[in-house]
Amino acid sequence: MRLGLRIQQPHRCRCRALTDALGHHSLSCHRNPGRLPDLAALNDVVYRPLGAAGIVPPPPLEPQGLDRGDGRRPDRSTVFLFRRGRIFMWDATCVNTCSTLINDRALAAGAAASAAEHRKHRRYEDLARRYDFSPLAVETSGVLDPAFNDLLQDIGSRITKRSWEPQETTWLRQHISFVVARGNAAAICGLH
Ligand SMILES: [Zn+2]
Repeated sequence: MRLGLRIQQPHRCRCRALTDALGHHSLSCHRNPGRLPDLAALNDVVYRPLGAAGIVPPPPLEPQGLDRGDGRRPDRSTVFLFRRGRIFMWDATCVNTCSTLINDRALAAGAAASAAEHRKHRRYEDLARRYDFSPLAVETSGVLDPAFNDLLQDIGSRITKRSWEPQETTWLRQHISFVVARGNAAAICGLH
């Protein structure tokens, strides 16, 4: 992918579009089944360390009672106050760095992740007024949106204070890299 090589045999996607040899369609298409576990794994990278960071008891798997009225709600939330004295909730997304939709803005590193972060903020702007809402956007190249990066730093620092292990934040970032790389492979191979 990074070298722009042909990594996929073009074929008919579930959405009926013809995929490209570079894998861009497979990484972007929301009907590609390989994309879904990607988000679940991303959520886990934030959810599981919260307990180690002292945010106990662990948050529920899905926030309840936060439906915006249209069936959409953030992926997860904490039970107790976290940052800025508010309940924290988040919604994870992984966007293709080379998506044709953002190609004209992809000149700067992280442009696709930042665009996705803005879209999520607009989608949940009502909740964001009452809670500490954070869209967690990462690109298929592994670049994190700055807000996501700050969150990992925050959680990692809290774990370090308890474990005395200075590498906690680094390990969280490495975990994200593994999740993204595994998600890319699943999307390209059409797994799941
Ligand atoms: Zn498709």
